Amino acid sequence: MRDIEIGPIRPPSESNSLLIRVTRGCHWNKCYFCGLYKSMRFSMRPIDETIEDIRRQAQLNRGKKITSCFLQDGDALVLKTDYLLRILNAINQNFPDMQYITSYARADSITRKSPAELKALRQAGLNHLYSGMETGSDRILKLINKGFDVDTVVKSGCMAKEADMILSEFILLGIGGKELSEENAVQTAMALNIIQPDFIRVHATGIKPESKLGEFVRDGSFTLQSEEEIVVEQKLFLQQLHEMDSYYVNEHIINLLLEVRGNLRTEKQEMLSTIDRFLALPTNEKLLFTVGRRLNIFFLLDDLKKPELHQEAEKNLQQILSKNPDVDFAALCNYVRQSQI
Ligand code: SF4
Repeated sequence: MRDIEIGPIRPPSESNSLLIRVTRGCHWNKCYFCGLYKSMRFSMRPIDETIEDIRRQAQLNRGKKITSCFLQDGDALVLKTDYLLRILNAINQNFPDMQYITSYARADSITRKSPAELKALRQAGLNHLYSGMETGSDRILKLINKGFDVDTVVKSGCMAKEADMILSEFILLGIGGKELSEENAVQTAMALNIIQPDFIRVHATGIKPESKLGEFVRDGSFTLQSEEEIVVEQKLFLQQLHEMDSYYVNEHIINLLLEVRGNLRTEKQEMLSTIDRFLALPTNEKLLFTVGRRLNIFFLLDDLKKPELHQEAEKNLQQILSKNPDVDFAALCNYVRQSQI
């Protein structure tokens, strides 16, 4: 008997969800920063096979209350609406407790659907889309070969909200390099202020050496930001975001300040204060925290106050400096970040 097919990726927030693979890979697969599905050829799974997986998952999970499910891989919204409706119906029939069915969705896949199609999908249970807008700057979208522009990002976000779907937008801090850092912060906030998504999920960029962006770093056209510069970019971004009912979250281990999360209407100032607390540290403590975070010694800013963790981070920092006194910490931290995705 064929094994149930599971794809390689899901959003961090879907760690407890049932995974149903409807496509393999990403049909675009051309973003210059992304290596997630590079080794995979895109294909749509035959519908009978996917529905059979749903039935078998239901048998395996008999007696368990399954309430959430994520449709894999990179952009299930690229599928025809009829196909998706059949999948959603099969999920609902086999999992009567299902409350959330979620999927990645490229902005241009959302805008290719009509408002009526999005509403039909929502009514059939698809109620949360994760969309990787990455940035609100047209220049950066072009630089990273995202394949759509900011108008499409804004239109898609508004369409998803109009269809009453929960919308998560993924943002990449540092994706414009030093050159376009301010533009990334300001223009991304401008787009999000219009969309007002339910979740703003920020990730620090980790550039893989073998990616096209890695080439840009080597040829000098893209300058990596230090961890501190990415935090400064985050501060400007957060300042520009309106106080709206969106939940802002640093949810991935790749981010330096994991405690910066909260509702923008009620907790924006608290989040900015946390960022300021980091930026106000003496230079050597900022570096220590950064290196300690990247080595998984520290997780939260308060860990700096724990003597045993502080000592361990200091020991590791000294070892790094004794081996290479001229170490480029921006490059070193980027190296660690890219290894975490
Ligand atoms: S970032 Fe998303 S759309 Fe771009 S290549 Fe990767 S999976 Fe595809």
